[in-house]
Amino acid sequence: MALKLFNTLTRSVQEFAPLAATGKHVGMYCCGPTVYDFAHIGNWRTFVFADLVRRTLEFSGYDVKHVMNITDVEDKIIKRVRENKTTLREFTGKFETAFLEDLEKLNCKKPTATPRATEHIKQIIELIEKLIARGVAYKAADGSVYFSIEKYRGCGCCYGQLLKLNLDEMRAGERVASDEYEKESVADFALWKARVPDDGDVFWPSPFGDGRPGWHIECSAMSIKALGETFDLHLGGEDLKFPHHEDEIAQSEGATGKPFVKFWLHGAHLLVEGKKMSKSLGNFFTLRDLLAKDFTGREVRYLLLTAHYRETFNFTLDGLAGAKSALARIKECLEKLVEFLDPNLPHTTVAPDVEIINQFKAALEDDLNISKAWGVIFGWIRDLNRSMSQKDFTSNQAAIAIGTWKTLDLIMGLNFEIKVPARLKENTVEMQGIAPFTGFAAKVEGEESVPHEIQSLVVARMQAKKAKDFKRADAIRDELKAKGWVIEDTAKGPKLKKV
Ligand code: AMP
Ligand code: ZN
Repeated sequence: MALKLFNTLTRSVQEFAPLAATGKHVGMYCCGPTVYDFAHIGNWRTFVFADLVRRTLEFSGYDVKHVMNITDVEDKIIKRVRENKTTLREFTGKFETAFLEDLEKLNCKKPTATPRATEHIKQIIELIEKLIARGVAYKAADGSVYFSIEKYRGCGCCYGQLLKLNLDEMRAGERVASDEYEKESVADFALWKARVPDDGDVFWPSPFGDGRPGWHIECSAMSIKALGETFDLHLGGEDLKFPHHEDEIAQSEGATGKPFVKFWLHGAHLLVEGKKMSKSLGNFFTLRDLLAKDFTGREVRYLLLTAHYRETFNFTLDGLAGAKSALARIKECLEKLVEFLDPNLPHTTVAPDVEIINQFKAALEDDLNISKAWGVIFGWIRDLNRSMSQKDFTSNQAAIAIGTWKTLDLIMGLNFEIKVPARLKENTVEMQGIAPFTGFAAKVEGEESVPHEIQSLVVARMQAKKAKDFKRADAIRDELKAKGWVIEDTAKGPKLKKV
C-alpha cells in the first residue's frame, strides 16, 4: 500500500509520490515557531504532527529533508522587544533555545534545517524584486511594498487555492499592513514594511528603503532557498491556511511562475478543556507548565499523538493522567520481555513480526490513521502478555517482540529505555519497503552472529511467503543454502542454522 495524505490543495486524500526523479528524496517545510514566547501546547500539537509525518515518510523508505523555520522577526516580536527594552537577537535567542529544548523533550526529531528569517533578508529582498519586476508588487505611498492581488489574478493566477475566497467583495486599492487578518478583509498585503519609529533598531537597508520583511514573504524565501522553487510538502496548523499559506503561494508562484508545493497538510487545532486556550481562562499551558506538574515529555507526546491530525483535539489534564497508565502498560510489557531474553542461546534468528508491522504501516499510510495504529500496538501487547503468561514463551519470541517494538517506535518515538543483556548484539535489518528493523541476535563466544545480508534474506523470504509468492520464497531459501545457511520453518517462526 502506498502512503495517502489529505491534500488541502485538492481537498482530497491523495497518494503521495515525491517530485524527485530518484523517487526517494522528499522536501518538507513546516512553519516553525514565532519566538516571542514559549511555545504552547497547541503549537506543540502541530510540531508533533510534523514529526509524525516525517517519521512516517522515513518509515516508508523516503529520505526526508525536513525544514522548520524560526520566525525571529514579525509584528508581535517587535512589540515585545520594545516593551522589554532589549535587542531582537537577545530576545528571540532565549525563546529559540527553549523551543529546541522542548522539541527534544517531546522526542521530536531535530529538523534537518532550522533557518532563521533574519538570516534570509537577502533572499527576501531578491524575491520582492522579482515580484516588482513581474508587476505583481508595488511600493505604496507609506513607503512599504505590497503584493497586488488584482495584478496577480490579472496574470491568470489563482488567489484562493487553499480555501474559497469571495474576491468580488474585495475593494480595489485596499491594503493590510499587519501580518494577521481575517479572510473577510482580504486585501493587498505587505511584503516589505517601511521603517517606523516603533521598530527601534529592527530594520534593514533595501532598494525599497529601510524596513523589515512581512511575515509571509519570510517563509516563501526560506522554503525556496532550502527546498527549491517547487517542493513536496508544506505543513502547519489550520489557522495558517489564510492568510499565511495563501500568501506564501501567491508570492512564490508570482515570483517563479512555477507551482510552489505539491501537498499542503494542515493539522487541526487543539482546545484545552473544551475551550480555546487563553491566559484569562487559566487553560493556557506551555510544555514547561506541564513538566512542572510532574508530567513527562513522553506523556505529552503520547497524548498529542492519540488523535487524528485532522480532528480537533480536546486536551485535558485528566487525559494526560490517562496517558500515564497507557504508557505504563507498554513499559511493563517491554520489561517482562527483557526478562525472557537468554543471552546464552546460540544464533537467534532476527525476524520481526512482519504481520504486526504491516498492519501498523497500513494504518499510518491511510492518511495517518493513528487510532488504528495504536489499536494494532495495544492489541499486540495484549496478545504478548497472554503469550508470556504461558510456559513455552521463548527467548527468541521475546527478541522478536522487542525488535518489533523498536520498529514500531521508529514512528511513535516514545524512546523507552530497553535494558537488554550485555551479550546480546543489536542488528539492523533492511526490510524491503519497510523501515529498517532493529532486532537482536545472540552473540556466542567464538562464533559470529548472523551476518546482515543473511538476516535481510530471511526477512525478504518472510515477506515473500506472506505475499504468497512461494516461488520467490523458495529461490531465497536456495540462495541462503548456497551461502551456507539452512532455514527451517517452525511454529515459532523461521530458524536458521549454519551448515
Ligand atoms: P506560531 O508560533 O504562532 O507561529 O505558531 C506555530 C504553529 O502552531 C503554527 O503552525 C500554528 O498553526 C500552530 N498553532 C497555533 N495555535 C494552535 C492550536 N491551538 N492548536 C494547534 N496548532 C496551533
Ligand atoms: Zn510560514
